[in-house]
Amino acid sequence: MIEKKATKELIAKVGRDKVFCDREYLLSYSYDATGLEFLPDAVVFAESDEDVAATIAFCREHSVPLVPRGAGVGYSGGALAVQGGVVLVFTRMNRILRLDRENSLAVVEPGVITSDLQAAAEKAGLFYPPDPASLKTSTIGGNIAENAGGPRCFKYGVTANYVLGLEAFLMSGEKVRLGAETIKNVAGYDLKSLLIGSEGTLAVVTRATLRLLPLPPQRRLFRVDFSSLAAGARFVQRVIRAHVQPSVLEFMDRSSLQAVYAYQGLPLDERLQAAVLVEIDGSPAEVADREALFEKTVAEAGPLGRERAETFAEQEALWETRRAISPAIAGLKPKKINEDIVVPAGRIPEIVEAIAALAVELGLCIVLFGHFGDGNIHTNLMVDPADAEEMKKVDLALDRIFRRVVEVGGTISGEHGIGLSKKPFMHYQFSPAELELFRNIKRAFDPDNLLNPGKIF
Ligand SMILES: Cc1cc2nc3c(=O)[nH]c(=O)nc-3n(C[C@H](O)[C@H](O)[C@H](O)COP(=O)(O)OP(=O)(O)OC[C@H]3O[C@@H](n4cnc5c(N)ncnc54)[C@H](O)[C@@H]3O)c2cc1C
Repeated sequence: MIEKKATKELIAKVGRDKVFCDREYLLSYSYDATGLEFLPDAVVFAESDEDVAATIAFCREHSVPLVPRGAGVGYSGGALAVQGGVVLVFTRMNRILRLDRENSLAVVEPGVITSDLQAAAEKAGLFYPPDPASLKTSTIGGNIAENAGGPRCFKYGVTANYVLGLEAFLMSGEKVRLGAETIKNVAGYDLKSLLIGSEGTLAVVTRATLRLLPLPPQRRLFRVDFSSLAAGARFVQRVIRAHVQPSVLEFMDRSSLQAVYAYQGLPLDERLQAAVLVEIDGSPAEVADREALFEKTVAEAGPLGRERAETFAEQEALWETRRAISPAIAGLKPKKINEDIVVPAGRIPEIVEAIAALAVELGLCIVLFGHFGDGNIHTNLMVDPADAEEMKKVDLALDRIFRRVVEVGGTISGEHGIGLSKKPFMHYQFSPAELELFRNIKRAFDPDNLLNPGKIF
C-alpha cells in the first residue's frame, strides 16, 4: 500500500500527467486477458528512460512492487499487480526510433504495437515475422517478455529469433545494454536471451533492436478439410514430413469450427471434423515448387475438400474462421481455461486423440486448435467455475494432460508464459533443483523481490 504522502513524491519525481491513483485508472490496469483482477496502488505512464529510472528509484526507496505492463493482453497474468504497488505502463513509449534497411533492423521503444512495426517494415520492403494473434494490440515489450510466437513461427521462429539487442533497467537503477546490432555475438553470458521470456521479473526493457528479413514476395493460403480429427492431425505430420516448409500450419477441430460457424450464422457440413490452414510463401519459383509438393501431399491424404486463396482478399476470407475462434468459443461456457501445451511434431496425432478421448471420458468441453506445425496445441477447457463437480474433473484432466505432455518431451507453455495462472503446474516440468536455479537467477537480478513479485515460482 502506498501512503498518500508517498504518492505525492512519485508525482514530483515523474510528473503529474504521468501518475494516476484514481480508482478508475487503477481498475483499468487491474486485469489482463486471463480475466483475473488485482488493483495496483498507482499507475505510471512512462514516456522516457528518465521516467523509468525515477519510478524504479521510488519503488526501491519505499519497498513497493513494480509491475511492467504493455497492452495488458497477456494470457497468464504477468502484468497483474498481485501484491499491489506501481504498474509501469509502456504504451506512451511507442516510437520506432530507426528502421535501418542497410542492416535490416529496427530499433524500437517497448510500447510499439507489433502490427505497427510489421506495417512500417513492410513499407520498407522488410518483414518482422513474429505474429501473435493479438498483434494488433500487443506491444513489442510484452512480446519480448513472453517470447511471443504465432502462426508464422513454424517457419520463422519466435520473438527471441529476432531480438538482436536490448536496453533494460535493473532494479538497482542501473541501465544495461545487452546483445549487439549483429546476428553473431558470443561475447560474455547471453543475458539478452535470459531476459527474453522472463515475463517482466528480471529487468524492465526500454529499447529493443530487432532483426528484419526481406519481405516474401508471394503468399498462397489453403484450407484442407477432413472427416476425422485423426486424419486432420495426421495431415499436419504429412506436410512436415514432405518438407513442404509452409510458413503457417494451423489446425481447427470440430468444436472450434462449430462455434465459429454458429457465431457467423453459417451452416456446417455434418461430416467436417477438422480443418488445416496452410500458408506457403517465398519467391514465385519457390511458391510454385512448394505448392506442387503440397498438392501431392493433399492428394495422398484424401481430404473432404480443399480451398486455395491467391489474392489478399481471398486469403483474408480464409483466415476469418481461424481468427474468429477465440471470440466464438467465449460464448460456450462462463470460463475458458486456456492451456498452450507444445509437443514434438511426431507426437501431435497421439496427443490430440488422447485429449479428445479424455474430454469424452470426463464429459468436459475441450476445444483444440492452434499452431500445430510447431506442436503448439491450444487446449481450451470450457467450464463453469460454479460447478464444483466440473472443476474437479478439470483438475484431473489438467493433471493427465501435463503429465503426458512432459512424458513425450513437450512443454507446459509454448507462448503464453507461466505468470500467475500456470504457476501451480511448474513442478510437472521442472525438478526442485531446476526451480531453485530459477530462484537464484531472480535473486541475482532483484534481491529485494520488488520486480513483478508473485509470478512464475
Ligand atoms: C486473443 C489473444 C490472442 C493471443 N495470441 C497469442 C499468440 O498467437 N501468440 C502468443 O505468443 N501470445 C498470444 N497471446 C498472448 C499475448 O498477446 C502475448 O503474451 C503478448 O506478448 C502480450 O503483450 P502485451 O503488450 O499485452 O503484454 P502485457 O500483457 O502487458 O505483459 C505481459 C508480460 O510482459 C511484461 N512486460 C511488458 N512490457 C515489459 C517491458 N517493457 N519490460 C519488461 N517486461 C514487460 C509484463 O510484466 C508481463 O509479465 C494472445 C492473447 C490474446 C488475448
